[in-house]
Amino acid sequence: MKIIMLGAPGAGKGTQAKMLADQYGIPHISTGDIFRANIKAGTELGTKAKTYMDQGLLVPDELVCDLVVDRVQQEDCAKGYILDGFPRTIPQAEALDQALEALGQKIDYAVNVEVPDANIVKRMGGRRACVNCGGTYHVEYLPTKVEGICDRCGGELILRDDDKPETVQKRLNVYHAQTQPLIDYYTAKGALVEVDGTQDIQKVFDDIVEILSK
Ligand code: ADP
Ligand code: ADP
Ligand code: ZN
Repeated sequence: MKIIMLGAPGAGKGTQAKMLADQYGIPHISTGDIFRANIKAGTELGTKAKTYMDQGLLVPDELVCDLVVDRVQQEDCAKGYILDGFPRTIPQAEALDQALEALGQKIDYAVNVEVPDANIVKRMGGRRACVNCGGTYHVEYLPTKVEGICDRCGGELILRDDDKPETVQKRLNVYHAQTQPLIDYYTAKGALVEVDGTQDIQKVFDDIVEILSK
C-alpha cells in the first residue's frame, strides 16, 4: 500500500504516519525527518535545507524530488510506504507520479488530515520533538511518561525552532499557497480520502484504517 499524508503543518500527519507504519508493517518516510537528520550530521544537503526551513519556507523541489524517488525504490519499500511531508508542491507530485509510472506503480491513497488553522497554532506551541529519533509528542495531548524525555529512546525533547508562533503562521501561509492545491490534484486522480483531524489521535487513526480497509 502506497500512501501519501496531506495536511497543514501540525495537522497530525507524522503522528498518524507512524501509527500506520506500525499497523501495516511498511516504512514511514518523512522528508522533514530526513532534512533534520542531515542538518544534525552536518551534510551539504542539511546546510542547504536549513536556510529555508528556519524561515518557514519550502526547500526547493530539486533538493527533494530525487531524494524521495531514490528512497521509495529501496528494498524495504517493496510492499509499500507512507510518505509524510512529500509531495508539498504540484511539481513534486508530478515528479513522483512520473517516477512511479516508469516503475509501473501508483499511489493508492492520499489521506488529507483536515484541521483548521486556529487549532494548528495551539497545537504547534505544545509540540515537542525528540532530537534523537524524531518522535513527536504534545505537552497536553500526547505527554511523555517523564517530562522532557522521549518515551521511545530516552532522547531529549525540544520545541523546534520552526514551531515558534511567528514561523508557524508563515508555514501555514506557505501551505495554503503551495501545498493545498494537491488536494485537487489527488482528487482528480481518484486517490483522495479525507479525515477529520480535530478528533483525538486514536479516533483519527481508526477513521483512516476504516477507510483504507474498504
Ligand atoms: P511539518 O509537517 O510540521 O510542517 P516537516 O517536518 O514535514 O514539518 O517539515 C519541516 C520543514 O522541512 C518544512 O517547513 C520545509 O522547510 C522542509 N520540507 C519538508 N518536506 C519538504 C518538501 N517535500 N518540500 C520542501 N520542503 C520540505
Ligand atoms: P505534522 O506531522 O502534520 O506536522 P504532528 O504529527 O507532528 O503533525 O502533530 C503536531 C502536534 O500535534 C504534535 O505535538 C502532536 O503530538 C499533536 N497532535 C497530533 N495529532 C493530534 C490530535 N488528533 N489531537 C491533538 N493533538 C495532536
Ligand atoms: Zn526519541
